[in-house]
Amino acid sequence: MVVIMKTEATHEDIAKVVSRIESAGLQAQKSTGEQHTLIGVIGDKSKLANQPIESMKGVDRTMPISAPYKLASRQFRDEPTVIESNGTKIGSKKLIVIAGPCAVENTDQIVRIAQEIKLSGANFIRGGAFKPRTGPYSFQGFGKSALEMLVCARNETGLGVVTEVMTPHEVELVGQYTDIFQLGTRNMQNFYLLREVGKQQKPVILKRGFSSTIEEWLLAAEYILSEGNPNVILCERGIRTFETHTRNTLDLNAIPAIKELSHLPIISDPSHGTGIRSYVAPMSKASIAAGADGLILEVHHDPDNSMTGDGVQSLFPDQFSTLMNDLKHLATAIGRNMD
Ligand code: PEP
Ligand code: MN
Repeated sequence: MVVIMKTEATHEDIAKVVSRIESAGLQAQKSTGEQHTLIGVIGDKSKLANQPIESMKGVDRTMPISAPYKLASRQFRDEPTVIESNGTKIGSKKLIVIAGPCAVENTDQIVRIAQEIKLSGANFIRGGAFKPRTGPYSFQGFGKSALEMLVCARNETGLGVVTEVMTPHEVELVGQYTDIFQLGTRNMQNFYLLREVGKQQKPVILKRGFSSTIEEWLLAAEYILSEGNPNVILCERGIRTFETHTRNTLDLNAIPAIKELSHLPIISDPSHGTGIRSYVAPMSKASIAAGADGLILEVHHDPDNSMTGDGVQSLFPDQFSTLMNDLKHLATAIGRNMD
């Protein structure tokens, strides 16, 4: 259920409603919009039967939320959520671009790529320190030392850092270095991990599970939101279909679907979504045209020698630069911008 406060409701009115909800043993989550404040009620609302909220001062009305996910739904919040990180607003008219190698390999590599993508206008550097590899004998990432290398890249360029966290017990460590947590496709339903990043306030990029429905994806986001972290960014990264020509099938339908169902920002990952370098630029443009709030792209200056197999889908820095220029024109055409 969501409680819709009147436009003229005071802070005190809102605080009293929150306290009534909490004293009934339920959770209250506030969403402050331009028009009015909404309060999401999580838990068994029959506990409020003897203390109706509807008659309280400042309350306009209450409304059930029909979707199985509540806080992630448009019914809970009708304005888009805008998330701020490292001075960049994600989910606003501005498109954001996160770029970098699949994995952090050494300080020179990550600093060099960060400098190149910064020149082209990227906002964040990405790079895996803890890599979720399909097989146990593949390179697993350099862990903590790679986190330190990412900080060097941030210090050199001012770019924000995005890196993956794989287990609940590493959330605290990764949080000391990163600006945004990335939760990978293989961990979309790692519920303990979702809850743990939900206890943080740093933004979380939640990649769609490669065999997950849009509803399951939003329910995974709900785990994070229900723990109190409102800063969830969804990322479409391709799903498994019968098609084997591409690594995955980038589900562009998911972008307008998420925009209708949820207020959360959504970005697209055409690198993993296609697995083929020459498809990355066209599918990046298609994602932005479909309404994505930004992109996460793999870029490597020497992809043939990259330490993961993802060199084949990595753009060269000059290809990235050309794409960024094209995206600027596209952004203007659809009423968005990149600066
Ligand atoms: C990655 O971003 O390098 C990655 C492993 O992504 P995904 O979880 O989407 O496979
Ligand atoms: Mn990768």
